[in-house]
Amino acid sequence: MVRTRFAPSPTGYLHLGGLRTALYTYLYARKMGGRFILRIEDTDQEREVPGAVQKIYDSMHQAGLTYDEGPDVGGDFGPYIQTERRDLYPKYAQELVEKGGAYPCFCTKERLDQARAEAEAKGETYKYDKHCLHLPKDEVQQRLAAGEPHVIRQNVPLTGTASFDDALYGHVEVDCATLDDNVLIKGDGLPTYNFANVVDDHLMQISHVMRGTEYLSSAPKYNLLYEAFGWEVPTYVHLPVVMRDSSRKLSKRYGDPSFEDLLDMGYLRDAIINFIALLGWSPRSEREFFTLDELEQVFDLDGLNKSPSIFDMNKLTWFNGEYIRKLSPEAYLEAATPWLKQALDETKFDFVRIAQLLHNRTEVFKDVPEMVDFLSEMPAFDNELYTHKKMKTDPAVALNALQAMRPVLSGITDWTEENLHSTLMSAIAEAGMKNGQVLWPLRIAISGKASTPGGAIEIAYLLGKDETLRRMDQSIAQLNG
Ligand code: GLU
Repeated sequence: MVRTRFAPSPTGYLHLGGLRTALYTYLYARKMGGRFILRIEDTDQEREVPGAVQKIYDSMHQAGLTYDEGPDVGGDFGPYIQTERRDLYPKYAQELVEKGGAYPCFCTKERLDQARAEAEAKGETYKYDKHCLHLPKDEVQQRLAAGEPHVIRQNVPLTGTASFDDALYGHVEVDCATLDDNVLIKGDGLPTYNFANVVDDHLMQISHVMRGTEYLSSAPKYNLLYEAFGWEVPTYVHLPVVMRDSSRKLSKRYGDPSFEDLLDMGYLRDAIINFIALLGWSPRSEREFFTLDELEQVFDLDGLNKSPSIFDMNKLTWFNGEYIRKLSPEAYLEAATPWLKQALDETKFDFVRIAQLLHNRTEVFKDVPEMVDFLSEMPAFDNELYTHKKMKTDPAVALNALQAMRPVLSGITDWTEENLHSTLMSAIAEAGMKNGQVLWPLRIAISGKASTPGGAIEIAYLLGKDETLRRMDQSIAQLNG
């Protein structure tokens, strides 16, 4: 049975690289009819950010990545938070010590710091010198019995190689001579990532370990642990990094958005997920649009790409626009309403009509307030805005048109778009004017903007009669200097 896990550390928001790992891990489990597990890796307590665990649950929920087992949903292999498993790691460390794969180390910080400084002075990479591996057995027993502070280190062979096979990167092999005897259990009794990931993946019966390539070079060392325990090694799938551009990784530190940021900006969940799925995986066809359900059917390891992918914000925005256009009018209205409310008083404007006018022009919801704020307040504008070559309009043409239409609009009693349309059209025809030479300046005169959702008639309708006439008067006065 395929069992995969997403194993974030609670150090902040879910960044997009993490979201992609979570997504692929989820999709693979679903595709294979397996189980998807959430595990919280919080043994590095110094890096833990308060509230981050809850944020992980929320983000997974918002992303639609339902896990079958996890801290807040339970399961047969819990607990799923590593600090809640703390009593179980020393037992396995002890087993490893007995099997020769690890040993207690009593070296003081001073000794280690000095050795590190000496290595650095010589321009060498520091490696622990296995000092405590060679302590006499009874001395070790005595010191342990006396409760002397210590850590447990991995005993990496001095010679030979360590290797493993990655589903994506193939055979990865390193010389043991280059590996350090890393700490497995810290002085506080908690395991390091190096140890906990191996023990937990084994105990939780994880069949496929999917995670970022930053762990690729350490995986041979983890493999030594599996071998020392005599445990079956899971299939490893390391995923290439997500880049911001050709020179750097996507990173919150440089202001790149997290998943939560994107949702806050008004990107749609489905658009983000679809877009993220294609950062490093290809369906090997021209098809670009997939729902999460569809991804669950088509995702496979063969479509994964080894080379780093680039997160292109413009492409995501385009994707989002496509998703927005596919929303039903009702769904669009619902999604747009909070954004409309930022700029407009709901009791004064016809949100349904505004939503219809905006639907095809929206790429990201965060743009909505500034697309409509002219309705609640007329912006200052320059008369030169009336100059439009193709429409053959300029301030003089505009003044003429506005003066001609002012009484016409003032005479309309039932202020509907239909009435506005028919009344204006016949007045324009009667006056022998051109549609564009009237409607273009009128739109500017009542919106103050070069580009608006909807034309003169829609905007006049939305503003209402009083406000439309008031704006016309103001603009006529401005044209008269
Ligand atoms: N806790 C690790 C991280 O957040 C996860 C690595 C793994 O999936 O094994 O990077």
